[in-house]
Amino acid sequence: MLHSVNDSKASDSKVNLIHLSFDQLTEAFTFMNEPSYRVKQLWQWIWRNRVESIDEMTNLSKSLREKLNERYFLRWPVIVGMETSSDGTIKYLLQLEDLKSVETVWIPRLDQERVTVCISTQVGCRMGCTFCLTAQQKTERDLTAGEIAAQLYVLPCREEITNVVVMGMGEPFDNYDNLMGALKIANDPHALGIGASKITVSTSGLVPKIEKFIQESKCRLAISLNAPNDAIRTQIMPINKAYNMDTLLSALRKFSGRNYPRARKNNFYFTIEYILMEGLNDSADNARELVRRLKGIPCKVNLLMYNENPNTPFRRPTEEAVDAFKKVLVDAGMLSFLRKSRGRDISAACGQLASDNKRQELGA
Ligand code: SF4
Repeated sequence: MLHSVNDSKASDSKVNLIHLSFDQLTEAFTFMNEPSYRVKQLWQWIWRNRVESIDEMTNLSKSLREKLNERYFLRWPVIVGMETSSDGTIKYLLQLEDLKSVETVWIPRLDQERVTVCISTQVGCRMGCTFCLTAQQKTERDLTAGEIAAQLYVLPCREEITNVVVMGMGEPFDNYDNLMGALKIANDPHALGIGASKITVSTSGLVPKIEKFIQESKCRLAISLNAPNDAIRTQIMPINKAYNMDTLLSALRKFSGRNYPRARKNNFYFTIEYILMEGLNDSADNARELVRRLKGIPCKVNLLMYNENPNTPFRRPTEEAVDAFKKVLVDAGMLSFLRKSRGRDISAACGQLASDNKRQELGA
């Protein structure tokens, strides 16, 4: 269990500043009788300048720095492993304060001068998708908002980051409040200042949180669908038992242009992610059924070929099957793209992330 702001009152346990939200810091500064503008200064030292210690915050008075040092410390996640793919993708293993670890992936697109970083929200994942390596890891804990955002800060060349995808380890909406706190930091012009339209959050389908997110955030939303019907989806994604496809797709339909004014204004659409697995969900009939199911939803469909690993029974589809699947979508007038898997050779692609202990156990 990580500390809360109230722990700062305990003399024997200092709190890592990266775990505190702006509001929590404001509360702490009020408790210390410090003016509120100091909070903004402290915030910028952490989330814009990324200093390593309280002593580096030189526009805070010496006495305030001493007070802070009595109650707090500053420690960022540490890069303890790194693998580079032949396609330029880099997978980082980050160790957190309690020695648990998560993976973060750096994905450069040199042709488009774009760098996307894929970040994690939990150590492990409770959702149990049968095609995913992360699911085989017991959920150890949620990341704090600061730990989610810090993944963008500890990478070398962080100023090159143009896009963020929340598609790493964990179900982001299973850690909703901390996710929102992290997005606020990434988006904050006094911090990294990455525009909401450059940030995409991917969910396996926690419907109540999807509705909340659409109303509360301007970031983009991707749904990991992976099936054209309940029979197939339930087989690979247990979340489908709680929120079946009708429930999930109706929620998306509710926020289409006609029903939702913001959608009309902002070129609003969802991304549907569909991982193709041989013999399971990759036939032309499956594609036709998908077209029918997605009718009336403003979306684009990203197709991905499954990344095989020895710990799951699924197989990568043939290129012919993928082409035929895509053709059905395109012929039906849908926006559909085949996404190249990045970092496949270093197990950094979709569904391949895990903590180092789990990786060793699985030999993955
Ligand atoms: S695919 Fe995503 S939601 Fe499903 S188990 Fe893996 S990390 Fe969790």
